[in-house]
Amino acid sequence: MNLTERDKKNIWHPYTQHKTAALPIAIKRGEGALLWDENNKEYIDAIASWWVNPYGHSNKVIADAIYKQLTTLEHVLFGGFTHEPAIVLAERLMDILPKNQQKIFFSDNGSTAVEVAIKVALQYFFNKGEKKTTIIAFENAFHGDTFAAMAASGISFYTQAFQGMFIDVVRIPVPIKGQERASFDALHEVIKNHNCAGFIFEPLVQGAAGMVMYEPESLDKLIQICQENKVLTIADEVMTGFGKTGKTFACDYISQKPDMMCLSKALTGGTIPMAITTFTQDIFEVFYDEDINKALFHGHTFTANPTGCAAALASLYLLQTQEMQDNIARVNKRHLAFQKHIESHPKVTTTRVLGVIFALEIQTESSASYYGTLRNKLYNFFIENGIILRPVGNIVYILPPYIITDEQLQKVYEVVEKALKIV
Ligand SMILES: *Cc1c(COP(=O)(O)O)cnc(C)c1O
Repeated sequence: MNLTERDKKNIWHPYTQHKTAALPIAIKRGEGALLWDENNKEYIDAIASWWVNPYGHSNKVIADAIYKQLTTLEHVLFGGFTHEPAIVLAERLMDILPKNQQKIFFSDNGSTAVEVAIKVALQYFFNKGEKKTTIIAFENAFHGDTFAAMAASGISFYTQAFQGMFIDVVRIPVPIKGQERASFDALHEVIKNHNCAGFIFEPLVQGAAGMVMYEPESLDKLIQICQENKVLTIADEVMTGFGKTGKTFACDYISQKPDMMCLSKALTGGTIPMAITTFTQDIFEVFYDEDINKALFHGHTFTANPTGCAAALASLYLLQTQEMQDNIARVNKRHLAFQKHIESHPKVTTTRVLGVIFALEIQTESSASYYGTLRNKLYNFFIENGIILRPVGNIVYILPPYIITDEQLQKVYEVVEKALKIV
């Protein structure tokens, strides 16, 4: 039996209807932007394996750091103990995070980073004796699949089975071009009518919604409204963090700063699951008390795993090299050139680019569903052509590893253009 058939016997895959889905492709090896399956077919990983892998597969620098850490101190509990990799990582993050971020809390994945942020927002007001229990989020937001993160997420088929079981979340429209006013007004309205503890948002780019983008000025305005009304702001940078938008964080484009930030995905260069939620000193101090009940009683067994910290430190090192910064600028320039080339294509309605993120929307007669026929046709076409892209409805986006070569990127563009012919 090949791997694919053996997989079928025991494994349940994420976001998969096993009755109708094609069998998964078994990948045996990766290097740079390339992956090879069990039949040695080559693929270009044009979405950096769900946005986690900017520096390339099987990266030697990160692998060496992990090996060294594994053979020094692989893990130690983080309750009552600490270790150098976590301390150095915190110090390095302080150098690059917005200056108001002073404390970091470790967890395992993007959803737990969000879970921690939402719990902190709610307990912050509980500790102060104020009744504020509503969370504000954008329409079509994605913040993860655990319960609070799912409650904040607005993409319906992820959450429909659980409606009525969530914490209180109210939604406002995303301030995309032309709808800024509606978004600001909705925020004012929501704050007036609910006891709002926090506002969680994907800064500048909503990834899972199909790389929906909005302007920094609008985000500044929304944060400002929250600050005026004592609503905590949570920037979910799980997707946007570590260079994807062309700056280290999407929040580097804005002048107001959020109270909390959620980091994961590219944090460890796509190697070891790890996440971080960051906080202002003010938030930390509301939990800092003689009273043990005011503490944050949240933790995960593998909190601040030293091997994960070592992978994150090596990743940060790579991100900050001139070579990697040049790669980000190069991919951005190529995206802009492709955008120019493709935007007037009769089947393309809109295109957008920020940093290494490119997206185009394909003209459709009716609205295309998230995992609908058009999406599946496109997905299969890309796979046949050795390109890993996961369209969202009628939206095709590219978010490659920063180290993708010009030739590989060119091939991705060519296959995307060819795909427009088959729809
Ligand atoms: C992927 C993602 C999450 C969830 O992260 P997981 O590691 O999959 O739990 C949360 N927020 C955003 C913005 C994401 O893109």
